[in-house]
Amino acid sequence: MHEAHSTIDGRLYTAEEFERQPQAVKLAHRRSRFTCPVCQQPASFRSRSRDGRAACFTARHTPGCEAASAVWAETPAPGVQTVPEVDNTGAVIVLDWDGIPSGAPVPGPT
Ligand SMILES: [Zn+2]
Repeated sequence: MHEAHSTIDGRLYTAEEFERQPQAVKLAHRRSRFTCPVCQQPASFRSRSRDGRAACFTARHTPGCEAASAVWAETPAPGVQTVPEVDNTGAVIVLDWDGIPSGAPVPGPT
């Protein structure tokens, strides 16, 4: 999510704002010193990742919390297509026994 409440200084930070805070402020906020501004569940800051993902806050929201990042979960990855379910026709595959008795030596090259 994009914003979280600090339980230390009471501020509402956006992820970008918090990323620009001095190191001392960041250290003080380690270990989930945030709460979700909507559902008040504990939240923590995730800094920008090496692969370029923007900084954000994460939390275990209560079900239905508006701040939960449902947008991401529901956005299909590019190039993904919905395909129809395969119909179950009820057909049964019957293995055709080829007559080699079990335990017989495997036929090798002659
Ligand atoms: Zn929430």
